[in-house]
Amino acid sequence: MSKYQSNYVDSVATCACGATFTTKSTKEKIHVEQCSECHPFYTGQHQKNTARRGKVEQFNKKYGFTE
Ligand SMILES: [Zn+2]
Repeated sequence: MSKYQSNYVDSVATCACGATFTTKSTKEKIHVEQCSECHPFYTGQHQKNTARRGKVEQFNKKYGFTE
């Protein structure tokens, strides 16, 4: 076993936008405020999903982000 794997496990991350994804963490389940689905940096480059975009704009207003 690699010494670099110490405490990290496959973790299910749940985002504030409702998306879930797997990552590596020291906990089996984690909660994140933003992910690649809803972060303004990413959504600004992926505007094909208008339904999601509206949801993101609500999220941004809620948390005070502006584009
Ligand atoms: Zn998200």
